Amino acid sequence: MAGKGALLYLDDGQYLIDAISSWWVTLHGHSNAYIARAIAEQASKLEQVIFADFVHPQAESLAKRLNKLSHLERLFFSDNGSTAVEVAIKIACQFWHNKGESRKQIIAFDGAYHGDTFGAMAVGERNIFSKPFENMLFPVTRVPWPENWWGNEDIENSEKEALTSLHNHLETPTAAVIIEPLLQGAGGMRMVRKEFLKSVETLTRESGALLIADEVLTGFGRTGDLFASKKADLSPDLMSLSKGLTGGFLPMGITLAKEEIFKEFLGEDPKQTFWHGHSFTANPLGCAAANASLDLLESSPELYENFESRHLPYLEEIAKKSKVIKPRLLGSIAAFDLNIDGEKGYLNNARLVVKEKALKKGIFIRPLGNVIYLMPPLCIEDSQLAKCYRVVSEIIDSL
Ligand SMILES: *Cc1c(COP(=O)(O)O)cnc(C)c1O
Repeated sequence: MAGKGALLYLDDGQYLIDAISSWWVTLHGHSNAYIARAIAEQASKLEQVIFADFVHPQAESLAKRLNKLSHLERLFFSDNGSTAVEVAIKIACQFWHNKGESRKQIIAFDGAYHGDTFGAMAVGERNIFSKPFENMLFPVTRVPWPENWWGNEDIENSEKEALTSLHNHLETPTAAVIIEPLLQGAGGMRMVRKEFLKSVETLTRESGALLIADEVLTGFGRTGDLFASKKADLSPDLMSLSKGLTGGFLPMGITLAKEEIFKEFLGEDPKQTFWHGHSFTANPLGCAAANASLDLLESSPELYENFESRHLPYLEEIAKKSKVIKPRLLGSIAAFDLNIDGEKGYLNNARLVVKEKALKKGIFIRPLGNVIYLMPPLCIEDSQLAKCYRVVSEIIDSL
């Protein structure tokens, strides 16, 4: 097996267009030469070093760049998206603990997905994946997610309902509100409006709770801006990053935090310390990949800024089909629901049927139940994108 750009080459000589960026991680395309070289160069200099007692230039450079880009002054390294969320939740809870303030409640949204470790699972929507562990997950308060799509006429009502619910729950002392800004990924590519997020931020601030932005998926240009928070004009207290962080080359997680949060962990008393660390914290290869990926994003911002306009004409066309409902578009992510029979949600049969049909025609997609989406790497060529839509369109007609 091999990969180059938007293509995956199989052992039998066939190739597929990777229209979902290998589960949303591959940002600039497979085997990007610039990132590959950066990793190779770093590997022959320093492959790994303990990140206690030592720092190294790749980590320092990455930290400075992300601090500047995110306007969050501090960061914490971990290994993947789930740990980046775990760290955010733990920091939020210990922040209040260190301050001596009792704030127990955590608020998350219906349909959320934040990862598969215990804390991340707890804040995510409870479903068949978390069922065997239900009694071990800490309680989380849920607020409706007012998803939006082209032509949704009820959006103001559903936003109002969600905000009323949030407002009421925030009467209880709350440690943090965790949100996937602008887009719930695994929950079905469900998008919300900026206006809604601004109100969520305002209510959260008024209550004193911390705002955690899980940008594991939305970070690094996916939504058309470098971060969804930036696009929605939010300033979260904590932000979790992974997936596209290294351009999709290596696993790494980062949790960014505001200076005022960091300060609460300083002092002589070891009880104040954030006792959390992973063996591969700030791995130099991961940092080198992340720095190289940032170079690419900075040298060609138009690739992510203009992606939405590449999807637009195709999505408009496909949205005319009677089986296509709730078309929606954000940056490099285009999605819609199939209006067909079967089980609701992820286990809808369309997931397998559509995937199989697409594979036969050279496209790799993985519908989330009856939700079909395309999230290609930024490097996808026009002819390849056209082929993705042609195949998807044919499949819909054949159902
Ligand atoms: C994928 C994802 C995670 C989990 O990341 P992993 O690296 O798979 O652990 C967390 N939050 C969001 C929003 C994600 O999309």
